[in-house]
Amino acid sequence: MITIKKTRTSVPLKGIVEKISGVDLSVCLQCRKCTSGCPVGKLTKSGPSEIMRRLHLDAGNELLESDILWTCVSCETCSARCPMGIDVAAVMDALRKLALARGASKQQGNVPLFNKAFLKTVEVFGRTYEIAMIAAYKLGTGKLMNDTEKFPTMIKKGKISLLPPLAGDRKTVRRIFKKTKKSKGAEI
Ligand code: SF4
Ligand code: SF4
Repeated sequence: MITIKKTRTSVPLKGIVEKISGVDLSVCLQCRKCTSGCPVGKLTKSGPSEIMRRLHLDAGNELLESDILWTCVSCETCSARCPMGIDVAAVMDALRKLALARGASKQQGNVPLFNKAFLKTVEVFGRTYEIAMIAAYKLGTGKLMNDTEKFPTMIKKGKISLLPPLAGDRKTVRRIFKKTKKSKGAEI
């Protein structure tokens, strides 16, 4: 049994998280099956069930500083294990969106930078293009020479390609990005 103190210091996030994720937070039983299956639950201060509980208890922007938002690997195990069919991973996604939009999360490190570099290459090339993503990420971190000794082996083994991907419907992917950006702005 865990005890969670009410620590709200700003407007509750419950309503907006429910709107973005499409999840009804009030049906959570606090069975903790999501947390027991979470591969990163032991590395973080709060597991997904605690996040669910705190949202239900009207937590505000302080929840956006939770380390699990940026440790979560979006594996969706929590959603698959939930006996109430709650899409817990969608809740984590909604919180990440809010954290970025509101400039929160001191604990995020380079994860948002990596996400941004990954998504930008998908937006431009229609699918992931590792070399461009690595270049954008390294430029952002300023650590241009880190791990570069691994490149020749990765290229030789076909793990990364020097040429951009030819497959993929770039126009459709760009349209999806455009639509998503519009709806994201409207929600947050
Ligand atoms: S598994 Fe579902 S019902 Fe159980 S604590 Fe997690 S979100 Fe709540
Ligand atoms: S999606 Fe995130 S919170 Fe859910 S089980 Fe995977 S790592 Fe944990």
